[in-house]
Amino acid sequence: MITYDAVVIGLGVMGSAVLRSVAARGLRVLGIDRQHPPHALGSSHGRARMIREAYFEHPLYVPLVRHAYDLWERLERESGTTLLRITGGAFIGEEGSELVSGTLESSRLHGIPVDVVDGAELGRVFPAFAQQPGIRAVLERRAGYLDPDRCVRALLDRAEESGAERRIEEVIGWESESGHHDGRLRVITDGGEHVTDSLVLAAGPWLPSLPTGHRLPLTVERVVQAAFAPDRPADYTEESLPVFAWEFEPGRVFYGFPAIEGAVKVGLHHGTPVSDPDSASREVSATETDEVRSLVRKFLPGADGPLVEANICFYTKTPDGHFLIDRLPGLEQVLLVSCCSGHGFKFAPAIGELVADLLTQGAGGFDISPFSLSRFEDG
Ligand SMILES: Cc1cc2nc3c(=O)[nH]c(=O)nc-3n(C[C@H](O)[C@H](O)[C@H](O)COP(=O)(O)OP(=O)(O)OC[C@H]3O[C@@H](n4cnc5c(N)ncnc54)[C@H](O)[C@@H]3O)c2cc1C
Repeated sequence: MITYDAVVIGLGVMGSAVLRSVAARGLRVLGIDRQHPPHALGSSHGRARMIREAYFEHPLYVPLVRHAYDLWERLERESGTTLLRITGGAFIGEEGSELVSGTLESSRLHGIPVDVVDGAELGRVFPAFAQQPGIRAVLERRAGYLDPDRCVRALLDRAEESGAERRIEEVIGWESESGHHDGRLRVITDGGEHVTDSLVLAAGPWLPSLPTGHRLPLTVERVVQAAFAPDRPADYTEESLPVFAWEFEPGRVFYGFPAIEGAVKVGLHHGTPVSDPDSASREVSATETDEVRSLVRKFLPGADGPLVEANICFYTKTPDGHFLIDRLPGLEQVLLVSCCSGHGFKFAPAIGELVADLLTQGAGGFDISPFSLSRFEDG
């Protein structure tokens, strides 16, 4: 039987990026997914994923996203495919809101050029936005969006070019070959067994249900994404509308994109907790689309046209909203990679490099202690 240097479980955007980076280092690597990626059942699908540099969640992400920009651009060149569109971004809320102050803090600390405008100016520059009093908008030039399916495909294609192998199987579990905590592992799937020196768990919303032997601090949320055909298409082109996020109540964020294939994708950056993604409803109810439409009417009135698409997707969230990248306690050769909390996609190629560093050198250039599992331990 072949012994792999690494097996990656899950080929959403994170697993695909890890597979690509690990294969590019010359390691023998196998990626396993129970679906045919890219697919629309996990977290990595939809019309668009936002990328932005002045990161409101925490300034620590700025070097990581800068690295990701470089790697997405390199992947575009290598694959000859457009993956990234730069449209600029507007990050909107009351002065002092988390979104506005966090964006300003990251831009100040990292020297990212931004402009700050009030509601009247925002509506004048971008007529798609409703004029709202008492708000501030931070405008960032380098923000834009990625095409999720193309990104996953490009990562998988490059991984295979570098020699990665791929299987469509469901992973059921794994066991240590020797009984040692750092020895080889036998990965058991519905199609057979694979032997590997290390294992990367990138199963997205299914990660909490993998048999890790630990109760991981992850909550899975069912999230609705919808797209509407705008009544005034000219206001919704990439030239006339940036990607945006709008904190309309403390901690409640509405976001959206310029029109892609004639429809404006919008959503609420929040969902409903589910215990198991497999049993969560895939249907989007009228109540759910009405909730999104009411925000469209209020903040983006010209986009209140026919519903073109509505589907669900999953957030896998940690209690503090930051990523989880760590070794599994008791099995050091198993890496947990949960880079979601609703904002992970943009980082995928940088996370792939970081995981490849961990597998080949034990550590990389980026300090991952803020993403440790131990930060959630008591005391
Ligand atoms: C609606 C929505 C909007 C978002 N917007 C943004 C955004 O604008 N910008 C941004 O940066 N991020 C955004 N995100 C977050 C981002 O999309 C996620 O962080 C990212 O897609 C997570 O990818 P993943 O590979 O971890 O998970 P997934 O894509 O879910 O992949 C997990 C894979 O594991 C496989 N799998 C699971 N269990 C097994 C098993 N037992 N055996 C084999 N295979 C298995 C699944 O089939 C799946 O393919 C958004 C997420 C959602 C849901």
